Amino acid sequence: MAYSEAAYAYANDELEKRKQAAALRTIEMQEKIRSTVPGFTSAERERLSLGMLRMRAKLSGDEAEAARLAEGLEELRQRIDSMLSRYGFTRADLEDKHFCDRCSDTGVLPDGSTCECKENLMAKYDREQINSVSPLAMCTFGSFSLNKYSDTDSKEYGVSPRDNMRSILRCCREYADSFPAHRNLLLMGSAGLGKTHLALSIADQLIKKNVDVVYCSCSSIFDKVREEMSDFSHHSDTLERLKNCSLLILDDLGSEYTSNQVRSHLYDVLNSRLSSSLSTIITTNYIEKRQIDTVYGEKISSRLFGNFEYLPFFGDDIRLMD
Ligand SMILES: [Zn+2]
Repeated sequence: MAYSEAAYAYANDELEKRKQAAALRTIEMQEKIRSTVPGFTSAERERLSLGMLRMRAKLSGDEAEAARLAEGLEELRQRIDSMLSRYGFTRADLEDKHFCDRCSDTGVLPDGSTCECKENLMAKYDREQINSVSPLAMCTFGSFSLNKYSDTDSKEYGVSPRDNMRSILRCCREYADSFPAHRNLLLMGSAGLGKTHLALSIADQLIKKNVDVVYCSCSSIFDKVREEMSDFSHHSDTLERLKNCSLLILDDLGSEYTSNQVRSHLYDVLNSRLSSSLSTIITTNYIEKRQIDTVYGEKISSRLFGNFEYLPFFGDDIRLMD
């Protein structure tokens, strides 16, 4: 996965802090043990000097002496262990307790690859950068009220807005519970019917489970991509994150200034995510497929309607009912 340079710097900084915190905890623990366990300090000193003697014996080729000292060291080690356990400590208390045992907070695994803990830090940083573009007042399923929707059957749809919303709410909850069953949702309907609220509720639940969610509003995110691409590199960290985060929520498709460049970025993002089996949720105020055909063209429209579950929102604007 590609991350921004700032994300690398942030992750390295955090790992350094974790290492220092672990070292500090160890020093504090060692001091506590020294002051609690009688005889520990002198036994440790003895262990160090025996260790030195043994090393010297080995270097000078005196194998018999080295073996004798090794035996003495082992006895001493056992004596220290029982001293510690008498006071409720173990040998492990003397060693650094890392945040991540797999990489000892270095961010690098023994085979040279990047540890998941560092990946998580970088993803978190980039996610926060992108999420900061959008006014992200977190909505939850708990704060979603069906009572605001009319329970009178709609002539056009044959069900009431409330019953429709009940089944959409169930679908969104299932989506969050079953993630990452690779599914894409297209939330369509006029403004003020709760699309963003439900998309954010899914985000809220999954972010709590540590899923790498990127939520962004179409009206600002493509501007950010364009700004990043306007320098010489023609590279956009944001575009990369849109392509590779675990769940992408593109809010309010159609609110952006739709240029050919935006269409091409959108197609690129959708295509890349579909081929990597990454889940996407899109909300839009468009209510008909043909509107999307007209604005985004057949290529994008067929990606959306061929690969997304379509959830139609209808009813009266609930924002006016408070
Ligand atoms: Zn790690």
